[in-house]
Amino acid sequence: MSLLKDKVALITGGSRGIGEAIVRRYVEEGAAVAFTYVSSSERAEKICEELNANGAKVKAYKSDASSYDEAEALVKSVLEDFGKVDVLINNAGITRDTLLMRMSEEQWDQVITVNLKSVFNLTKHMLRPMLKNRSGSIINMSSVVGVFGNAGQANYAASKAGIFGFTKSMAKEVGSRSIRCNAIAPGFIETDMTDELDEETKKAFLSGIPLKRLGKGTEVADACVFLGSDMSQYISGQVLSVCGALNC
Ligand code: NAP
Repeated sequence: MSLLKDKVALITGGSRGIGEAIVRRYVEEGAAVAFTYVSSSERAEKICEELNANGAKVKAYKSDASSYDEAEALVKSVLEDFGKVDVLINNAGITRDTLLMRMSEEQWDQVITVNLKSVFNLTKHMLRPMLKNRSGSIINMSSVVGVFGNAGQANYAASKAGIFGFTKSMAKEVGSRSIRCNAIAPGFIETDMTDELDEETKKAFLSGIPLKRLGKGTEVADACVFLGSDMSQYISGQVLSVCGALNC
C-alpha cells in the first residue's frame, strides 16, 4: 500500500520503541521520513542505512525535543533536506516514575519538559511552514495515563493530559488552514519504556486489559498512518486510544 506516497514526515524519538515502529510503517506506506534521537546515534544510523538501502528516503537528526532552540534548528534542517513536512509526529517521551512524596523537582521538570514542552517547541516551529502550505497533520503521542492517572506517575500523567488540551486548541487555531491536530493515547505497549516496570506492575496492567495482551509498536504506528494520511481528512481535535480497551 502507499497511503503516504509523496508525504514527508518528521517524527521525534524515532530511534527506538513506538517511534521506530512509526518510522518503519511510514516508509512502508511510501513516506520520506526525518526522525530524531538524543543518545542512540548508532541505532539511528543503522535504521537509516537499512531503510535507505531498500530505496527509502530516511534521515536521522540528533536533536533534543525539549530544547526550543534545537527544535528551531531541526525544523530548518529538515526543510532544507526534504523541502516540506506534511506530518509532524511528536512522539518523544520519558518517564521518571515515583510517588509524589518522593518526587524531586528535577523529576517533575524533566518529564514536563521532554513530554509536553517538546510538543510546543516542535509545533511552534513547524506551524509557519504548514500554514504557508495550507495543509498538515500534527499527531501528538499522549497516553491513557493522561486520561485516567496512575499512582507513581503524577508527572507523566500531567504531561500527557496537557497534550490533550494543546491538541484540541491547535485543532481550533489552525483548522481553517486545513491543518489537523490529533492525539493518540496508547495503553500498555511493549517497548524499553514498559520493560522498566517491575513484574507485579506488568501483571496488574495485563489483568486490566480486555484484549488480554500488551500492544505492539506497530499497532500504534498503524493509527499514526491513518491520522497522517488523507483517509482522516475530516478528523481533527480528537484523541484516538490504542489500548486494547484498557480502562475504558
Ligand atoms: P522508548 O522506547 O523509551 O523510546 C523513546 C524515544 O524517545 C527514543 O527514540 C528516545 O531517543 C527518544 N527521546 C527521549 N527523550 C528525547 C528528547 N529529549 N528529544 C528527542 N528524543 C527523545 O519509549 P516508547 O515506549 O517508544 O514511547 C514513545 C512515546 O509513546 C512516548 O511519548 C511515551 O510516553 C508514549 N507512550 C508509550 C507507552 C508504552 O506503553 N510504551 C504507552 C503510552 C504512551 P534515544 O533512543 O536517543 O534515547
